[in-house]
Amino acid sequence: MDVSELFKNKTVFSIEIFPPKTALGREKLMTSLLEIRDIQPDFISITQSAAACFNEQRTLAIAQAIQQKLGIATIAHVPCLYRTKEEVKDYLTDLEAAGVQNILALRGDAGNQQICPRDFTYASDLINFINRNGHFDISAAAYPQKHPESSDVVSDTLHLKEKVQAGAKHLITQMVFDNQDYWEFKERLALADIHVPVEVGILPCTNSRQIKRITKMSGIKLPKKFLAITERYADDPVAMRDAGLAYAIDQIVDLIANGVDGIHLYTMNNMENTRHIWNAIKNLLPDQTVSQSQCTFVEKERVRG
Ligand code: FAD
Repeated sequence: MDVSELFKNKTVFSIEIFPPKTALGREKLMTSLLEIRDIQPDFISITQSAAACFNEQRTLAIAQAIQQKLGIATIAHVPCLYRTKEEVKDYLTDLEAAGVQNILALRGDAGNQQICPRDFTYASDLINFINRNGHFDISAAAYPQKHPESSDVVSDTLHLKEKVQAGAKHLITQMVFDNQDYWEFKERLALADIHVPVEVGILPCTNSRQIKRITKMSGIKLPKKFLAITERYADDPVAMRDAGLAYAIDQIVDLIANGVDGIHLYTMNNMENTRHIWNAIKNLLPDQTVSQSQCTFVEKERVRG
């Protein structure tokens, strides 16, 4: 299933997970995903570290297991910064053989290393390459507050347009904590003649150390309302978790009520929090009911036509 097609009929709800390093971790993740199978997100995206070597098979193995055991479509993240064309081509062959049709094409981050690209400099180079070497539905990353390396939103928007012109059919944003950022971003995209669906990345931020790390890495400016929570509950993990979940739910309710294209939940592999959020919002997404979720993947494909 091409995930970009989903947006024609519904408000999409999807989740992101990362592949655990150990076999035991992967087994635990699959068990916790089986426990939330009734949620049936429209797709699950699986990250891949740009810097670590040879981890792409972990992403692939989890994507394949999710599709086969849960009947849920997946998006494999593919960062290109440290890959050669040959390596990416081989990986595309593996993805195709495993039945993974959707890719989030990324440049990736250098971590602490200096950026030293090999065959790809930008995500748009990768998107062009994928289109020439396979039949994938391609998504790309987007940054409502602009990418931290960009000098201004105009050039960032124009570079985003290059990704869409190269063939990205759907965008997923970096985590958003102020919904106004999303709506202003959508306006900018419309002005730039970019008309693909944009899912909002929502991170249920449930501990204050996590938020410090993330804002340092991403350069995201947090709204006052959210900062008040992190300051007040920094030393009270239970209150911080409850407040973080309530904040994420409040954001999602507001976004759905105002016609967002889709919600992409950064789960951090915490399916308990995912369940909590889902229970609070499931009735706002009436076409994603439990009964529909119990169909097999093939039946669902037929229903959706
Ligand atoms: P690009 O689109 O290439 O943009 C990078 C920078 O280059 C931007 O500042 C852009 O404006 C600029 N630029 C683009 N084209 C040009 C050009 N032609 N000339 C000059 N400047 C240009 N990272 C991982 O390693 N693994 C993951 O699994 C992962 N998943 C992610 C999922 C989402 C939804 C998001 C939002 C990010 C994810 N990332 C992941 C992080 C991402 O790789 C980093 O944010 C990275 O710094 C940029 O990746 P990109 O694909 O957006 O890059």
